[in-house]
Amino acid sequence: MRTPQFIDLPASWETEVPMETNWPATWSKLSTYAACPWKFWLTDASKYVTGNAIIPFTSNRATELGEKKHALYESAAFSLKNGCRVPEDIQKNPLWNAKVGRALESMMQSYSDAIIEEKIGIDAKWQAWSLNNYWQPAAKLFGTNKMLIRAKFDLGLFNKAPYGSHAPTHGILIDYKSGKPRKPELWGQLALYAMVSMCRWPTLNVVDCIYIFLDHDAKYEQRYQRSQLLHLKAYFLAKILEVQHYIHMSESEPQVNSMTPTKCNWCNATKDQCRYSEKG
Ligand code: SF4
Repeated sequence: MRTPQFIDLPASWETEVPMETNWPATWSKLSTYAACPWKFWLTDASKYVTGNAIIPFTSNRATELGEKKHALYESAAFSLKNGCRVPEDIQKNPLWNAKVGRALESMMQSYSDAIIEEKIGIDAKWQAWSLNNYWQPAAKLFGTNKMLIRAKFDLGLFNKAPYGSHAPTHGILIDYKSGKPRKPELWGQLALYAMVSMCRWPTLNVVDCIYIFLDHDAKYEQRYQRSQLLHLKAYFLAKILEVQHYIHMSESEPQVNSMTPTKCNWCNATKDQCRYSEKG
């Protein structure tokens, strides 16, 4: 795999990361920043500086449909994990894709140790935490850790039980996607899954990260090895620190993104909020 270039990282970054702000990164936030820093400011960073996002998140039909599909495959995975078939009402649901369902069933039969919808946070000392539904460390009774980055995968399959005294060496991490199949970036979300899972399970040597496109019979898969972990950490840390610095400075001019050089309709920002917007 081609290794990306990094910016200079702070000294001792491998043991503890100095953080400018208590802003936990996610893949989606890093992507928004990369596409348009001003949109990132309006929808996310403003929340960390002023307490409220200038443009709060609102769901739409596509996100609601995506959530319903995820819930369906999650229920199916619970049934398969318990040794049952996929329930008939799920199989009859128009959102269910029988081909994807069969592939899921076959994978879960080969890798019986499954974790369904796991949230993982990495703190400034690179310690990995399982997170609860509030995105807080499940093992901590009070207080919060400053999280460097958080990630959630839909299904993890392991060659040995990933809890207790067992030590998995091979994992498959699956993320369900709605919409048209698209090839993942080499150093994108799948690479992030590999990084957080190798921090979470120190014996994992090989991680296969997969996008499964629920509306099509398509998947994309990338394999990562533990020997790449240091590069993965450095790569994502450089991205996170750049965004943390942007938030810390908390001032920016709207920046035109490469897709729309002069006029932009790409997000919900109005003309008052972004001088490039065409929305009144
Ligand atoms: S309208 Fe375009 S340029 Fe303005 S914030 Fe949204 S994405 Fe960025």
